Amino acid sequence: MQNYIVKNPKKKLTWNFSEVPPLLKWEGVHTVCEESACPNRAECSSMQTATFLIGGKYCTRNCAFCLIENGRPVPMEQIILTEKMEILKAVFDLNLKFAVITSVTRDDDPANLALHFREISQSLRHMNIGVELLIPDFKADRENLKIIGDGQPDVIAHNLETIERLSQKIRPQASYKKSLEVLQYYRGQYPKMLLKTGFMVGLGETLPEIMQLMKDIFNAGADILTVGQYLQPGKTQVQVEKFYTEQEFENLKNMAHEMGIKNVQSGYFTRSSYNAAAYATRINPGETR
Ligand code: SF4
Repeated sequence: MQNYIVKNPKKKLTWNFSEVPPLLKWEGVHTVCEESACPNRAECSSMQTATFLIGGKYCTRNCAFCLIENGRPVPMEQIILTEKMEILKAVFDLNLKFAVITSVTRDDDPANLALHFREISQSLRHMNIGVELLIPDFKADRENLKIIGDGQPDVIAHNLETIERLSQKIRPQASYKKSLEVLQYYRGQYPKMLLKTGFMVGLGETLPEIMQLMKDIFNAGADILTVGQYLQPGKTQVQVEKFYTEQEFENLKNMAHEMGIKNVQSGYFTRSSYNAAAYATRINPGETR
């Protein structure tokens, strides 16, 4: 999952955050939008979309780019009901049309996290709300991936985050190959579901390595790709190696198109869930590539 605090040193933000509606400040609900101070949150909230974080506050992993705290999480059974009810209430009260549900990684209890994703997705679908599930890798365990897929979200997303060479450094407890397996599984088993992935640039990758990553993403069957600038969220996270220009992001988008990935969002501020609703309603799986 991509979770950043964005303090952009290069570009002036165009939104006045003090005017952001209280949508994302709902008490008791953790939104990635608010907690990561995402630069796109005003735009997303105007489109009645928000990203919710489930699985508690602490992650069992320790990715080098991520701001979420590593720690011993609260047992899943203690949080499942509360989190679900809070999200459903927020979605209803705030009249959201589309919700992205993402989570910390719970290697201590992946089965219950998978069930949690499924339950929330099913409930939102019953409320006629569009759903994207942005999931951790679940170590590519087919049983847990199936549980989640059976929640019938509009979009299933899992991020590669970076090129293969840097994966070990950036996501030490994850694996590039397992992440590809996750995408391949959903493409194979749920052909009608939109499949999405994303990665960051600015971590020290080279252009040929990005090309290989895009090739792997295309071969895994992803419908949608997001590419954004990595921004160091705190002192303990890895440093930015390079800031990409607007032209370079445009070049990456064209490169992905040439590889056959038609739905690409590439830009300095592009984040995994940016414009999620617009894409989910516009694209038909299988017709995109
Ligand atoms: S798995 Fe990594 S990226 Fe995802 S929440 Fe945990 S530390 Fe952050």
